[in-house]
Amino acid sequence: MKLTYEPVIGLEIHAELLTNSKMFCGCSADYGSAPEPNTNICPTCTGLPGAMPVVNKKAMELAALVGLALNCSINKHNTFARKNYYYPDLPKGYQISQYELPIAEKGWLEVDAPSSPTLLPEGEGSSPLSLRERVRVRVRRVHIEEDTAKLSHEKNYALVDFNRAGVPLLEIVSEPDMRSVEAALDYATKVRAILRYLGVNSGDMEKGVLRFEANISVRPVGSDEFRTRTEIKNLNSFRALARASQYEIERQIKIYEEGGTVIQETLGWDDVRGVTTSQRSKEEAHDYRYFPEPDLPPLQLSDAWIESIRSQLPELPEAKTSRFISDFGLTPSEARFLTSERTLADYFESVVAKSKSPAKTIHSWIAGEFMRYLNDSGLSIDDVTLAPQALAKLIDMVTDKTIGASAGKTVLTELFKNGGDPAQIVKEKNLLQMTDVNAIQEIVTKILNDNPKEVDEYNAGKETLFQWFMGQVARATKGKADPNVAKELMVKGLEERKNRR
Ligand code: ADP
Ligand code: MG
Ligand code: ZN
Repeated sequence: MKLTYEPVIGLEIHAELLTNSKMFCGCSADYGSAPEPNTNICPTCTGLPGAMPVVNKKAMELAALVGLALNCSINKHNTFARKNYYYPDLPKGYQISQYELPIAEKGWLEVDAPSSPTLLPEGEGSSPLSLRERVRVRVRRVHIEEDTAKLSHEKNYALVDFNRAGVPLLEIVSEPDMRSVEAALDYATKVRAILRYLGVNSGDMEKGVLRFEANISVRPVGSDEFRTRTEIKNLNSFRALARASQYEIERQIKIYEEGGTVIQETLGWDDVRGVTTSQRSKEEAHDYRYFPEPDLPPLQLSDAWIESIRSQLPELPEAKTSRFISDFGLTPSEARFLTSERTLADYFESVVAKSKSPAKTIHSWIAGEFMRYLNDSGLSIDDVTLAPQALAKLIDMVTDKTIGASAGKTVLTELFKNGGDPAQIVKEKNLLQMTDVNAIQEIVTKILNDNPKEVDEYNAGKETLFQWFMGQVARATKGKADPNVAKELMVKGLEERKNRR
C-alpha cells in the first residue's frame, strides 16, 4: 500500500527592527548606511569587559506592536536571558535574548491554504481559490534578541564587521500548524506585510533584514503524530523558502518510503544546487546554557503602556481588505492586490477620494497601466511622485469620454515622465476624443469608398478584415475616434455595401 504523506511546517522568522539605535547601546542601528566596517560600534556591542547593556525602549514598543498585530497577549513581566555559544560573529560569547518570558505569546494569523493536502504545488503557491480554505496558524511567541556581526569569508581568512552586532532583532515563532508549502508561503507573506504596515521592518529580504527558518517533518495523511523535524536555516527569499521546503518534504518522504528514519538536524539550503545540506545533527546541537541576564533587571510593562501601544495599531492588511471589498465593491483578489502594500492602498484611496469615477475603474487603472509603468521602469509604489489628484483627473477624462482609453495611456506616461496637468497635456498633444458622429461617419465612408477590394473580401466571408478596417479608422483619426461609435458605423457601412452588391 502506498502511503500518502502530508508536511508539517513551523516557521521561525527573524526581523530586524527599524530603531535609530541598537538594542542595548546608543550606536546607530542603520548599519547599511555606515561609511565603513566597524564604525558603528562601542564597548557594549563589541562585548568589552565591564560594558553595561541598557534596553532600547523604542525596540520594546515596536516588538509589542508586532505582538499585538499578531493577536498575541503581551507579557507585563519581561526577562532577558543569555544564550551562550561561541562564534566569531558574536563578540560577547553569548547573545542577549528572551527565553522564559518573551514580550508576546499565544497569537495567531489566518492564512489561505489548499483545502486538500498537496505535496507538489503547481508553480509557487497556486491552487485555485475555490480549493482554498482559511487556516489559523498559531503564533507561539515573539521575542527580542540582538543581531550578530557580519562575517565575510575570504580565501584564507574571514573579516568581521561589528556594525550589525547588537541591532534589535525580533524572532517570531509559529506552532507547527502549516500543512503545505503554500500555507507556509502565505504565512510568511502575511507576516512580512504586517511588519511593513507597522513600519517596523522594510521587508527588504535582499538586504537580509528579514530571514526565514523552516522546521519540517512529514507524516501519513490522517495521522496527528508529530514526527522528527529538521530545521532549514537562513532562507533569504520566498523562493528559497518554497524550494527548500519542497525539497526537504520530498527528501523525508523518500526516507520513510524506503523504511528509514529521519534524523533531527539543522540544515542549510544550497540555492545553486537546489538541495538541503546537513550542518549539524542533534548530537552536535548547542547546549545554550540559558540563564537570566544579570546586567538587565526584569522589565515591568504597565497596562497603560500596553494600551498606548495598542492605540497606535494601524488598520492591518486583513481589515483593510475587508473594508475595500465592502466599501468599494471590489473582488477579494482586487482588494488583496491593493492592500498588499500600505502605500499602494493609501494611494488608491487618495485617488478614489479625488475622482468621480467608480472605484472599480480606478482599481483597473492602478492594477493595469499604472503598475505596468512601474514594473517596466523598475520603480516601486514608494518612488511614485505622480499626485493622486492628477491620476484622478486623468481617469475622469476617460470615464466622461473626453479622451479615449489609448489617449489616456499616453497621458499617463507623460504624467509619469514629466508631471503636469492632464487637461493641459490633452490639449498640447491634441488628444481630445472625436465623439461627433457625423465626422466619424465621413471618415468611415471614405475608407469604405477607397478600399472596394477589401470590402468585397470582407463581405465574401473574410471576417478578420474587420480589424484592418478599424485600424484604418485609428490611423485616419490618430486613435481619437470613439471606438464604439466607429465600430457601429463601420458594421453598418459594410452591411449596406453587402446588400448593394
Ligand atoms: P526548539 O525549542 O528546540 O527550538 P520547538 O519545539 O520549540 O523546538 O520548535 C521550534 C520550531 O519548530 C517551531 O516553529 C515549531 O512550530 C516547529 N516544530 C516543532 N515540532 C515540529 C514538527 N514535528 N514538525 C515540524 N515543525 C515542528
Ligand atoms: Mg530554531
Ligand atoms: Zn554599541
